[in-house]
Amino acid sequence: MDDDTDCNLKLLLIICDGLGDRPVSELGGKTPLQYADCENFDWFAKNGICGIMDTIAPGVPPGSDTAHLALLGHDPYEVYSGRGPFEAFGIGMDVKAGDVVMRGNFATVDDDMTIIDRRAGRIKEGTKEIAESLNWIEIKGVEIFFKEGTEHRAALVLRGEGLSPEIDNTDPHRSGCCPLKAKPLSPAAEKTAAIVEEFSRKSYEILKDHPQNKRRESSGKLPANYILLRGAGVAPHLTSLEEKFGVKSAAVVGVMLVKGVCKALGMEAIEVQGATGGVDTDMMAKAKAAISALKNNDFVLLHVKACDIYGHDGDALKKVETIGRLDDMLGLLRDNISNTCVALTADHATPVSVRNHSGDPVPLAIVGQGIRIDSVSSYDEISTAQGGLGRIRGKDLLPIMLDIANKSEMYGA
Ligand code: ZN
Ligand code: ZN
Repeated sequence: MDDDTDCNLKLLLIICDGLGDRPVSELGGKTPLQYADCENFDWFAKNGICGIMDTIAPGVPPGSDTAHLALLGHDPYEVYSGRGPFEAFGIGMDVKAGDVVMRGNFATVDDDMTIIDRRAGRIKEGTKEIAESLNWIEIKGVEIFFKEGTEHRAALVLRGEGLSPEIDNTDPHRSGCCPLKAKPLSPAAEKTAAIVEEFSRKSYEILKDHPQNKRRESSGKLPANYILLRGAGVAPHLTSLEEKFGVKSAAVVGVMLVKGVCKALGMEAIEVQGATGGVDTDMMAKAKAAISALKNNDFVLLHVKACDIYGHDGDALKKVETIGRLDDMLGLLRDNISNTCVALTADHATPVSVRNHSGDPVPLAIVGQGIRIDSVSSYDEISTAQGGLGRIRGKDLLPIMLDIANKSEMYGA
């Protein structure tokens, strides 16, 4: 990075999913970040201002969706009502505020409506054609949109008057029994429950004779003849980043749920060849995509999932190895961007000892022209706590970056 004098700084937010951790005995009592040899992470600490961050609030273990809402300047307690709407955004559905959204599985039932397989034999092909056959249905004046996600996953969107998300799942989360009735959990949800029930019945009628399913059956595969639904939520009204902060923005994200949050906030989702959202993702390709997205955007989010996966696996050494790969990615970014305010952080900690997200604050470093460089010289959970940013909340990060980039408006006269 060079420090050309240009007051129109761009913004880059790098999120290493689940990066934060706790001391690990296997690593001699160090955290994976302390243990790993990571000169580029450390470069950000040495050349920036550091701190620690409670993405949502102190002691609250964040989900990746709520964490990203906060990091993108929104209060998740105000706008979050479940992951369904964001999953639907992520798979490319045009969700509108007030829509009721459920996540779904393509499943297999037999003639007695007993669930044989909740994932239709882990179906991978032909789901687009199957989903399209359900997309035209309108029930009780409510529009129904249905779209396939990855593998056996899908999403259902209901749009119309008098809808409520207070309905129970039809997915019993096991096979060998019948799908559940779409039960209303409040009187206000009776109409919605009746619509979901009707959708389930009609979709079975359509899917049992669907050509894709006939083809599957003739080759010995389980048909995708039923849609199991769960997790109803209402799509919130969200203010786009352009409206809220006046920035044109893009996201380089492999994970569907996080991509959905970005799209819901009006960010352009950039597709990258080799970005899988998994441990095998092509980090260098993602970094290059972020560098090129900075050319015509004010703000770019670069999200890499891999560390979180090894946190959930409880695999400290793999997490250390992944930090090494991230360090190489940071080296590429360091060498190829200029006039940019860069924040390097995580959406939450996924400690290998916990195997899940925890409420520990995450490390943060911000570099950019004019920054008040503090005395922190290594990037880890303990060192960054000594930095000049102190301890902040996730929703304050973007305003801080915008201020560093001189893009903030004065409050008062
Ligand atoms: Zn996460
Ligand atoms: Zn996770």
